[in-house]
Amino acid sequence: MDAEQLRENAHKMVDVIADYYKNIESFPVLSQVEPGYLQKLIPDSAPVQPESLQSVLQDIETKILPGVTHWQSPNFFAYFPINGSIAGFLGEMLSAGINMMGISWITSPAATELEMIVLDWLANLLKLPNDFLSKGPGGGVIQGTASEAVLVVLLAARDRILREIGKDALGKLVVYGSDQTHSCFEKACQIVGIRPENLRLLRTETCNEYALSPESLADAISHDIATGLIPFFLCATVGTTSSTAVDPLHALGKIIKRYRIWFHVDAAYAGSACICPEYRHHLNGIEEADSFNMNCHKWFLTNFDCSALWIKDRNALIQSLSTNPEYLKNKASQGRTVIDYKDWEIPLGRRFRSLKLWMVLRLYGVEKLQSYIRNHIKLAQQFEDLVAQDTRFEIVATRTFSLVCFRLLPPNKNEEYANKLNSDLLDAVNSSGKIFISHTVLSGNYILRFVVGAPLTEERHIVAAWKLFQEASSSLLENS
Ligand code: PLP
Repeated sequence: MDAEQLRENAHKMVDVIADYYKNIESFPVLSQVEPGYLQKLIPDSAPVQPESLQSVLQDIETKILPGVTHWQSPNFFAYFPINGSIAGFLGEMLSAGINMMGISWITSPAATELEMIVLDWLANLLKLPNDFLSKGPGGGVIQGTASEAVLVVLLAARDRILREIGKDALGKLVVYGSDQTHSCFEKACQIVGIRPENLRLLRTETCNEYALSPESLADAISHDIATGLIPFFLCATVGTTSSTAVDPLHALGKIIKRYRIWFHVDAAYAGSACICPEYRHHLNGIEEADSFNMNCHKWFLTNFDCSALWIKDRNALIQSLSTNPEYLKNKASQGRTVIDYKDWEIPLGRRFRSLKLWMVLRLYGVEKLQSYIRNHIKLAQQFEDLVAQDTRFEIVATRTFSLVCFRLLPPNKNEEYANKLNSDLLDAVNSSGKIFISHTVLSGNYILRFVVGAPLTEERHIVAAWKLFQEASSSLLENS
């Protein structure tokens, strides 16, 4: 790597990225290309001789960007957001620049120690119990995604119980979540060998705002024990993907306390809001949990990927995930005086991800991060008010954070037709390229999800989005 060449080319790339952000509103938010479009534009094999950066940048503009869906657009209201910020970007840039691997402490002590410190900072901001801090038997670790977070704790929980009751009991192990739990839980169960019929995704009800009912959990556990099965894991959610429902942690924790059940809390999206005192109550009961995760890359201005996971008993993770090959042995690890994060996750190699989170926390500060979250929630509330004022629409779930779930009601109230109408409405607004939203199904109904969470979104984008919904709805209803 020639330092001067790096300087020259990196400056050019920063210009490209800055221009991208400057012009981001001019792109269709949802990419409008057809499947296979790129194969027609890019040669079949890699070039034999080096090409110029200029020619690559030209291809990026003409061939790559048309196939990009612009998650950083202020008009991106789909799924949950993936946040980026200058602080997060600079942290990523520095991490790419240093380009090291924090496998064990010795392979880059700063990477391990900064990760421990920054996750302790964040745990304190969230007012997590002290058991989750690195000073005791617990601690935090950055995983790539929430899916990896739930997978590693499920693995740790499985191994913990099988150590006690014997490996032959694997087929009897039962896990609990709700029908609103993210699908990554089901995937984790597949990977760790939980029988599909032993995955209890308990039904939630509209009257409960799609939260997991403690009574149905208690009933399911009693029934499973009576039939000779072994309950061992509960995944509760703070801010479900479909409607941001909040499972009642305290009540759930009280139930599972009577058993030897690992309690995991997934707050991938909504965890960020809990740094604001007025939203912290959604984590009440977290004292009962064994592990907790939140995605800083979703709604915490930290560029992808950065999923924070805390665990009360780090030894449970280490017992499941550690290996000790000769070529990685070193005095610090052997002396057990340090954390080796390679034993807290699936991959061996790991990036210096704490840098960007540290930079976000330092360059924004807690107060600015809180007002960032509050502003999105205020904008979501404005959108919700606009929907509520139009009698053609229905708000279908209580808005708790920055997601509004709503649908257009057809005059004839036919549910089948309502589903088609809303699916058509989604297609109409998304194909306009002006905004991008996603959908879900709640109680059998096709529902539109409008999430405010892109860092660049302002009030004018909310107003324009709503105008688009109104126009598209009028046109659909006229033609129906
Ligand atoms: N949990 C919840 C509640 C989510 O909403 C999501 C994704 O949106 C996930 C888990 C999965 O996140 P990841 O993509 O980080 O695995």
